[in-house]
Amino acid sequence: MSDEYQPLVTGPAERNEPALWFAFHRGELLIARVDDEASLPHCHDLADLGLNSVRNLYLGTYAGKHCYVSELEHADELPHGHEMHGLRAVFGLVDETLAALAGRAFQIIEWDRNHQYCSRCGTATVPRSEERARACPKCRFTIYPPVSPAIMILIKRGREVLLGRKKEWAPGRYSALAGFVEPGETLEQTVRRETREEVGVEVDNIRYFGSQPWPFPHSLMIAFTADYEGGDVRPDGIEIEEARFFDAEQLPHLPPSISISRRLIVSVCGKLSRGEAV
Ligand SMILES: [Zn+2]
Repeated sequence: MSDEYQPLVTGPAERNEPALWFAFHRGELLIARVDDEASLPHCHDLADLGLNSVRNLYLGTYAGKHCYVSELEHADELPHGHEMHGLRAVFGLVDETLAALAGRAFQIIEWDRNHQYCSRCGTATVPRSEERARACPKCRFTIYPPVSPAIMILIKRGREVLLGRKKEWAPGRYSALAGFVEPGETLEQTVRRETREEVGVEVDNIRYFGSQPWPFPHSLMIAFTADYEGGDVRPDGIEIEEARFFDAEQLPHLPPSISISRRLIVSVCGKLSRGEAV
């Protein structure tokens, strides 16, 4: 039995065994507490828990179980041992794979909710059975779940890295720079433009680090490293309130470990402080 998640669009005709349910209401997910351990509801139907859903979508299989995402009608009266949690909190409650799956489920149910009608002609859309899409029966327009690519960039200068902070962040917290990809841009062009716009710096030797889906609301964060090439650090005062170089061994307060920014900074600074090539 595979522990891998297999995305599928059409579920079984009949549910003969309990399934995993990702049940959302206003952005919060239903979590079941079993012996003080947080997990997802595992049942034939949410109705078994006395809950009503306004929409259900099949997600595929995970650890040999069928998975569904639902939008609950309300979450006023939850069954015993169940709680609603914001998606960010879910990342600290259940294991990483399930949390990532919850992020995926959230994006799909939100997309479904937001595209019940064709954005071209206003006709009610219908789900397609062979792929994750909704189609307009009148004008044939097809709507797929959106993914918005964004870049993250950690700029190195010798043993230092450039970090910035936004006004709304907790005092003392810094992170790598980031920004959304614009239509027609390559990722490298986005890295250069964002760096120039946010801190006035030029970079070179852009290298891929890794990526992370970020379900707030539907981004894909693609992280890079780059070498500082020139220019004085001048935060734009809009996106970035303050930015400066930090020694790899004297880092400020960083974002939480669920985000790729922390992994990027910790990995690069670890190598820099050990004198390894990055
Ligand atoms: Zn249409």
